[in-house]
Amino acid sequence: MNKSNPISEELIAPCGMNCAICSRYLAYLNNLKRSQCVGCRPGDKRCSYLFKKCSGINNTLKGIATANFCFECDQFPCKQINRMDDRYRNNYRMSVKDNLEDIKKNGIGKFIQEHYRKYCCSECGELISIHNRKCFKCDTITRLVEKY
Ligand SMILES: [Zn+2]
Repeated sequence: MNKSNPISEELIAPCGMNCAICSRYLAYLNNLKRSQCVGCRPGDKRCSYLFKKCSGINNTLKGIATANFCFECDQFPCKQINRMDDRYRNNYRMSVKDNLEDIKKNGIGKFIQEHYRKYCCSECGELISIHNRKCFKCDTITRLVEKY
């Protein structure tokens, strides 16, 4: 694959979610008539999943663009991120806590490379959605090499 990586660092949310493979971000990218989102950091949104109940770094910092990752919080892992992690592991076979662990250990550059390889459409090389494994460009469903 010689394409440059479409996952930019700012698309990795503080909680370890990869916005680049979120259905709402891909809807935005491909200009689909459905719920769209530019991504957590690019939209300067506070954390969409944890914010309302977050009493750690995502809540106290002004905006999340300047915040780094939940693992830097003294409350990590909190109840909210554990709950989100359960939901993503059970429904989408991705662990945001494992993502954070990878980022912490190997750096974000390596993480986004691995994610591009893992969530790449088998037909056209665009990113697929973590939520339904679908490529929003060519409609192919890609089977993932399961980790869990
Ligand atoms: Zn495709």
